This record gives sequence, C-alpha cells and structure tokens, in this order.
Amino acid sequence: MSNDKAQCKSQTNNESRVVEAPRYGCSLSGVYEATVGLKKAVPILHSGSGCGMSQIHGTGMAGGFNSTGDYGSTNVPCSSLVEEHVIFGGEDKLRKLVDSSIQMFNSDLFVVISGCVPSLIGDDVDAVVGEFRDKVPLIHVNAPGFSGNSFHGYELFFEALADQLLTPKRKRKKLVNIFGIVPFQHLFWKGELKTIKQILKDIGVEANVIFTEFDTLETLEKIPAAAYNLVLSPWVGHRAAKKLEEKFGTPFVSFPGPPVGPIQTTKFLRKVADLLDLPTKKVEDYIFKQERESYDLLEFGADAIIVYDPNSYFAVAADTNTAINITKYLTDEISALPEVIIITDDPPVEFRDQIVKEFESKEINFSPEIIFEKDTYKIQKHLENRSFSTLFASSIESAFANKLNKLHLTVTFPSYNRLVLGDNYVGYFGGTHFIENAKSIKLGPL
Ligand code: SF4
Repeated sequence: MSNDKAQCKSQTNNESRVVEAPRYGCSLSGVYEATVGLKKAVPILHSGSGCGMSQIHGTGMAGGFNSTGDYGSTNVPCSSLVEEHVIFGGEDKLRKLVDSSIQMFNSDLFVVISGCVPSLIGDDVDAVVGEFRDKVPLIHVNAPGFSGNSFHGYELFFEALADQLLTPKRKRKKLVNIFGIVPFQHLFWKGELKTIKQILKDIGVEANVIFTEFDTLETLEKIPAAAYNLVLSPWVGHRAAKKLEEKFGTPFVSFPGPPVGPIQTTKFLRKVADLLDLPTKKVEDYIFKQERESYDLLEFGADAIIVYDPNSYFAVAADTNTAINITKYLTDEISALPEVIIITDDPPVEFRDQIVKEFESKEINFSPEIIFEKDTYKIQKHLENRSFSTLFASSIESAFANKLNKLHLTVTFPSYNRLVLGDNYVGYFGGTHFIENAKSIKLGPL
C-alpha cells in the first residue's frame, strides 16, 4: 500500500513456464470466442477433438455460465485429428469437413481455425480453404495454441478478416467500429457493447460493435467504412486496429476501457464528439441530462455508501479493462480506497507502464499497489495478509475470499458462479448498477 505513487510489480522474462489456472485460453480459443461471438458464423476446427471440447467449459461456462449459441459448444465441426493424421497429414479430412459443413450450416461466415497439430505437421490449410472461397464467405485463421493466449487469438481473427474478406469502402463520417472487448473473455461483453452502441447513438454516432449485431456479413463488410476505430482497452484490440489502419487508412483511438459511471462516460463522449466534430450543444445537453439523472439515482445509495461502509478498502484481481474502470469508478466517484490491484490478463510488457498510469486518481491522494500476475496460486498469495474488506475478482477467488473472511463479487473471467446475460457496468447508469451489486453483498443480515 502506498499514499503517493502507484507501485508496480511486473513479471517479465524470468517467470515460470507453468501457470496455474490462467484466466484465458489459447490462441485457438480467442478465435473461437470471436467467431461464436458473431451471429451465424460457424467455427470449423482443424485440430484434435479436445481443442473443441475444452471450449465448452473453458469459454462458454467460464464466460458467465453462457452457452455459445447455435454454432458453438458440441455443434462445432472439427476434423478431430488423431495419430494417423500426424503421420499422413489432415488436409483431406479437412477438405471433406469444410465441404460437409457448408452443406449443413446456413451461415453468414465460416472460420477455419487451425490448432497446434496442423501447424506442427505442416498441413497446407490455406490451399484447402482456397478451394471453397468462391462458394461461401470463408476465412482461415492459423491459431496454434502455443502461439499465444485468447487475446492474441482475437487479434489474429481480425488480421485474417482484414486480409481475406474485407475490401475498401467509402468512409462514413459518423460511423465508428468498437474494438477491445473480447466475447466471453470479457465477462460483460454483450451488455457493454449494447450500452456503448446506445450512448453513441444518443449523441448521433453509429457504432458498429461487430459482436451481438444481427446481419453478420453486412456488419463485417462495413468495418472499412468507419471514420475511426475506437479501442476500448489500453492493449487488447490494438493490433487489430493497427492492421485496419494500414489496410484501409482508418485511424484508431484508444481508451482505458468501456467507461463506467458519469465521469468516465462523459470523458469518453466528449472525446468522440471532438473526433467526429459533433454539434457541441446536442452532446452537452445529453451529458447534462444523463449526469443529473445518474447522480440523483446514486444519492439513494448514500447510506449504504457513506454510513454503512465509508471509505472502505478494496482489492481487485481482474483483466486490465475491468480492473482499471471499476477501480477508477470506486476511487473517483465513491471515494473507496484501493489496496492492491492484480492484473490477470498478461498484457505485453510494452503496455504495462501506460496501464499503471491509468490508475492514477485526481480525486483521492492514494494509490494502490499494482501487480501483474497470471498464476492463480500467486494471485491468491498476493491477496493474503491484507486489510481490504471487498475483493472484486473471478469466481476462482470466491471460496478463497470466504476463507480470508473477505466479501467477494465476481466481475471477471472466469465466472462459474454468476450467470451474465446483458448485465454490465458501462455508461451513466453502469456505475450505480455496480454499486447496487457491490454493496448488496455486505448489507443485511435481515
Ligand atoms: S493449446 Fe493447442 S492443443 Fe491445446 S486447445 Fe489450444 S490449439 Fe488445442
């Protein structure tokens, strides 16, 4: 704990190669998440069958106890490679699988995802996929699990999309794409994207949030027409946005994460309004009305916040986007005190200084200890012998927090103890909703 500068412990090159219960999947998992996050897009796995089976628990259930739609879970076509394909190759099996999948599924997009095995044995997957390109919208993403994690897979998906499907479009001045929120991996993705779309619509901006949109092919095809790509993460989606900038000349702007509560939301909207040269009066009128209503609502929580649980210490163990924005909401709008923040999604080293800066608060003269850690055993060791009262983390920490006699709320992946459909903490009323959830675990007992 510190009362001046944020302290940061960052693992770099000397870390262990074994990670206990990491909070993400492999590259293949990230491409699968992006594909089933779209409507009517079919993943075709060129991999062992276990790669697909592991997504049922590792993506769907871990992502807020969700099902993964019509084309996910046990419905996923998979080449189910075994020893004979390692020796003789799996191209012929893949060819038959793609052919039968095209006949069976009424889909907007097919995404062939290569896992570890075809990458190791050298199957020419691009050549097989090329045989079907004139029949249906189809891309191939080479995503061996050893190449990175789910966040890397999300970037690979958009890089493949830009290279293999998208074509230049005339720019539309009020259209933006939203990046940086990975389906399933970011627990509140569905609600966050819908809320972002709505608040931007309210100030006259069309947001292509890509996931959760119906008419998938049309949605994807308009990506190059955007005036800007808005990346709602200090690191996730940056590679995808850079690719689109190189390919289609679309500039991108990065934000700390999806905005939680009035301060962050107003800052976000003013920045977008400035970028798109929106009429100031319309935007400021909207901001005034929304701020007034959300602060009026928050006042009803005054006793729960100020009398029952004033200036309480809290800890966070979550992905970067979630950790920054709920911490900033609690410090800047509620005056709660952050004791330790553990970033669990393993952002690349080059982004870590900027991530630490995002936690600086102008509202309270107090900064937390900030730790980058992906190993569950080590995360829990960092949480021991602390004085905080509430832990915002994944469901993995639920029993552990109970053992430490701390309150716990699941706010990040994995979430096996919280069903998340449209729930989210984004926008003017996201902050008040977060407070409802956060304070309700302490109030009572009657
Ligand atoms: S790491 Fe490799 S083998 Fe394991 S699920 Fe991912 S692609 Fe499949």
